[in-house]
Amino acid sequence: MSTPTEDANVTYTPSPEGAVKTLLILGASGDLTGRLLLPGLARLITRGRADGLQLVGAGSDSWSTQDWQGRLAESFAAAQEKADDAGRAALERICEDSTYQPVDVTVEGELAKLLDTLTGPVAIYFALPPAISQKACELLEPDDVPAGTRLVMEKPFGSGEESARRLNKTLKALVPEDHIHRVDHFLGKATVFNILGLRFANRMLEPVWSNQHIEKVEIFFDEKLTVEGRSRYYDKAGALRDMIQSHLLQIMALMAINGPATIHERDLRDHVGSTLRAASIGPDFARCTRRARYTAGSIGDRSVPDYVDEDGIDAENMTETLAEVEVAINNERWAGVPFILRSGKAVGRKRKEAVVTFKPVNHLPTGFTGADAPTRLRIGFGPDTLQLEMDVNGPGNIFSLDRAVLSAELNASDLHPYGEVLDGVLSGDPLLSVRDDIAEDCWRIVEPVLEAWANNEVPMDEYEAGSSGPSAWVTSQEDVPLES
Ligand code: NDP
Repeated sequence: MSTPTEDANVTYTPSPEGAVKTLLILGASGDLTGRLLLPGLARLITRGRADGLQLVGAGSDSWSTQDWQGRLAESFAAAQEKADDAGRAALERICEDSTYQPVDVTVEGELAKLLDTLTGPVAIYFALPPAISQKACELLEPDDVPAGTRLVMEKPFGSGEESARRLNKTLKALVPEDHIHRVDHFLGKATVFNILGLRFANRMLEPVWSNQHIEKVEIFFDEKLTVEGRSRYYDKAGALRDMIQSHLLQIMALMAINGPATIHERDLRDHVGSTLRAASIGPDFARCTRRARYTAGSIGDRSVPDYVDEDGIDAENMTETLAEVEVAINNERWAGVPFILRSGKAVGRKRKEAVVTFKPVNHLPTGFTGADAPTRLRIGFGPDTLQLEMDVNGPGNIFSLDRAVLSAELNASDLHPYGEVLDGVLSGDPLLSVRDDIAEDCWRIVEPVLEAWANNEVPMDEYEAGSSGPSAWVTSQEDVPLES
């Protein structure tokens, strides 16, 4: 039996089978592998965090090992340039020893046969279309997977609560829950710990971190990117499934959890789980949800067509490119506080942050001029930053209130988000992965909205690409101007 490690920075109980020896990437020729996974892995390798790892690429393409090694060289190039001698040598070794195995994972027995040739424990990264990953797992038997195998599943995890539950059942028939890594690359380790450190290591914050003092919490992820050639996936997903169902609900939970006893995976994920169990949207969807689609416009010097005129988009799908929902967390701490989650593509101003708006003071002494603007705390994501906006006496007229902003940069990780994901997988730490009940619950929260939207209970608004969203959507995040 394994015992918890004594290293205080380790948040998990090490696997009794020991560290992962082989990383098998299924979908070796795919976009995710080339653009995100391999560059993330490369940084990990140059930092000596993947020593002795065997890397195997596999997929339905009839590639040779040379083709695969060519892809590795390309994806490793940026890390290679920055690495020291030891890092470069480690990259070269992994590249030279790496092989490619053609496999169609939907053919019974093919993946099992491949696994039989690998040195365990193996981490199987399913960088495949979701339906293919699911089929591949359904075809595996527990005896097909070497002891200590870790399954790494990409988003979307299922297509609804019921399908996530079925997928969980399939996976847990193969390996224990703490060997399943449901990837949420959005939640880097630094971001998670930055939020927790800020919230729980500052006496002045926790006492006011509740419905007694907080008016609302907003979480934004607006980006300038459009569908960028991923229409096959995005047109079936949309902003609500793509961003809010997964990433933004996770951030919301971290902003809202009660203080855990430790920052180990069990305590932390228990708290995230119980917070999300208290969360819901509705029932008045026309009031608490909004959706919109971009029309032609320009972002910087780039012209963008109507969303429905982008390659591979079917207007009949009624896919939203901007979504906003108001989530209620029905517990003692948060009852009555709206958590507003918003994410959109082709928005003129890139914005990735959580904004906590405090209630006004009970009484502003008579005699001050200017507005008592609410105190706001902003936590920026990637780069992680902190800003506290407060009222102070203005220059010149000391009776007039003015705004002061205290700013700080928070700790950044030297790994790419996917480097952090792989670090957790290779070291056997599930802290950053989404637990089974949490994956199901995130669908439970958004499914009523998806249904209401499918029934057209909420209109599809429009916004010009490059604008800040539909003009009728008043966003409260901008600075409130002082009245003279
Ligand atoms: P791609 O379509 O680019 O790649 C899919 C890969 O799977 C290809 O290498 C394909 O090979 C292989 N494949 C398909 N069918 C089989 C099969 N039967 N047996 C073996 N290999 C097969 O997809 P992405 O890389 O974009 O996405 C992969 C996963 O990652 C998806 O779940 C996606 O949602 C998720 N994801 C992707 C992100 C991205 O930015 N790309 C971001 C976040 C998540 P072939 O070409 O021969 O068919």
